[in-house]
Formats: sequence, structure tokens, C-alpha cells
Amino acid sequence: MNIPFVDLQTQYEFLQPDIDDAMQRVIDDTAFVRGPYVSDFEEAYADAYGVDHCIGVANGTDAIYVVLRMLGIGPEDEVITTANSWISTSETIGQTGATPVFVDVEPDYYNIDVDQIERKISEDTKAIIPVHLYGQPAEIDKVMEIADDYDLYVIEDAAQAHFAEYDGKRVGTFGIAGTFSFYPGKNLGAYGDAGAIVTDDDELARQCRMFSDHGSSEKGEHEIEGINSRLDGLQAVVLSVKLPHILGWNQARYDNAQKYTERLKDIPGIIPPPVRPNARHVFHLYVIRVEDGRDELQNFLENRGISTSIHYPKALPFLKAYEHRGFQSSDFPVAYNYQDQILSLPMYPELTEDMIEYVTSSIRDWVGM
Ligand SMILES: *Cc1c(COP(=O)(O)O)cnc(C)c1O
Repeated sequence: MNIPFVDLQTQYEFLQPDIDDAMQRVIDDTAFVRGPYVSDFEEAYADAYGVDHCIGVANGTDAIYVVLRMLGIGPEDEVITTANSWISTSETIGQTGATPVFVDVEPDYYNIDVDQIERKISEDTKAIIPVHLYGQPAEIDKVMEIADDYDLYVIEDAAQAHFAEYDGKRVGTFGIAGTFSFYPGKNLGAYGDAGAIVTDDDELARQCRMFSDHGSSEKGEHEIEGINSRLDGLQAVVLSVKLPHILGWNQARYDNAQKYTERLKDIPGIIPPPVRPNARHVFHLYVIRVEDGRDELQNFLENRGISTSIHYPKALPFLKAYEHRGFQSSDFPVAYNYQDQILSLPMYPELTEDMIEYVTSSIRDWVGM
């Protein structure tokens, strides 16, 4: 059996008439950049998410950058974030001229270890960017408490966690803003790059919209030098067609995760991902830990036609981009040790029980059970 790591084809076949129609309409109307289809999606996403504003931007990386800039974060400032994420989380901090300050991750849930945040706060700290990694909410209530105590902004990187919940509240709605990626493989994915910012802050929303459109909110006038990071019409209609399905797809991912975990939980040396009790995990990724021999297992699965991946092969502080900071493995021991243990198994709503069975029985075979 051949099991790809992600499968965007099956979903397209399911939605094909709607997607094709919608894209044709954008072309007929030549409504390519921003415009009515983008506004329609922004409104639909804000409604579905339960927020006052959604600002579509070109990608999930810019979403973070735009918010940081509009909060006034720049050179001399520090922004605290997690040691394990996709580089967007920290590179956007650097793009503003500020310094990313990394915090190690929690052993179980692999998100920012909130107990270590306070000791990283300095006079220059302006914000915290927790990431709801793999679709599992970070301990966001504690992050908010610390931010309140020290008067810091919280920007939630929810690129992997559309509609995930913590204590019954959606991630991305705790901080001053939440940011999303609609990269094709994300839980809600466009057919190219796309992203969004959500916020209840009217003025921040206005500024983000203005900054991401060349610093302009009025034709012919530019309040400041901005950037060009606009959502385009074709991406917006794809997202509008998909949006009504997101909760069902998240549920299917969750159910698939339960099936994986049920079959993996008794295998020695294989640690399935635990779900935080008060959280609604949306399983963008299903990441197991292999205590010993992760690379060997990955090859074994590849030979059986099962594609897996690693998120991420190196934790952020250990990337070449941060070599000049001189971090040691002992600075982030959890993130460091897990680099060689984590393995992302195929995860999408369309996985079948047979596919899950094939993956898990192959893992059993490798372990020799
Ligand atoms: C995908 C992702 C982003 C960035 O999204 P792009 O749309 O690819 O720019 C940011 N943060 C995390 C955690 C991501 O997974």
C-alpha cells in the first residue's frame, strides 16, 4: 500500500465542482488581488472564528510580521517564543530588528514551557509568541497571566491550529492577535500561499490592513511605508469553499489520531502524542516519539510505501541561522533530545482505517511485535 504524507488530491476531487466554479468567477470578474471575494472570505472567517476582524494577507509568515510591526516591535526589543516551531515564528521577530528569545518546550506536549518564560523576561521584552504546535494548544491561560503581569503583548501563532480550543475557547483569540497560515497542507489550505490575522482590536486591525497594502488605506495616500502582503481572490474563494468543512475535517483528523494512538499505545519505545486534557487538539500533525532508532524506522516505513516526515529536524536555536547566538544543547535540553526522536506519521481527514492499520502494523513489525 502507498501512503503519502499528505493527500491534497482526494479533497480536491470531493470539492471539485465548487472550487472550479468559484475560481472561474474570480477570473470572469478579474478580481485578482483583494476585492469582494477576499472581503467575503475575511467576513466568513471572522464570523466562523468568533472575532471582530480578519485581515487576509499573503501568507502566515507575513501575518506574524505585520502584527509585530504594528505593535511597534523593532530593534532593541526582545520577543519570547518557543524553541520548537517552523522558522516563521522566529524569523519574523528578526525581520523587525528585534531578537527572538527562545524557551524550551514541555516534555509531554511539546509546546512552550510556560514555567520557563518568566526567567527569560528582561527590560527589553515586549511580546510573547506562543505556537500551538501540531494543532495542540499551548498552555495559553498561563501565557496570558504572565503577559498581564509584565505588560507584554501575546501574538498566537495558530498556523497549525485552526479552530483548536483551550478551555473551550478558540486559540488565536486569547492574545491581542492570532495568526494563521493557509499554506496548502495546513488544516485549512489554499491553492498557493495565503494567511490571515484575527483580532478584536479595531485599531490594530486597521493598521494591519493598511500596512499590508503598502501603508495605504485610502487610494492615493500612504500613511507609512508598508509592505505588499495581500490575499488574492483565487486563494480567497478556495478558502471560502473549504471553510464550511473545517470542523468536520478537524474531527476526522482527531478520530484518525485516536485510531493511531489506540494501536500504538502499547508498543515499547513508541510514544504517541498525548492530548492536553482541557484542549481540543486539531492534529495538523500526528507526531510520535521513537525512543531509539527513529531514522531506521523512517526508512523501514519508506520501504513499505509509507511517507513520514520530521517536524522539525532541528529545533530553532540549533539552526545555522542562529549559530551566532552560540546556543548549547543544554540550553534547550528537551527540544534538543526530541530532535532525534520525533516522527510525523501521515495525517489527513481522508486517511482510511486500512491505511492507519497498515502504518501501525508496520511499526509493530519494525519493533518486532
Ligand atoms: C506554516 C507555518 C507558518 C507560516 O506559514 P506560511 O503561510 O508558510 O508563511 C508559521 N508558523 C508555523 C508554526 C507554521 O507551521
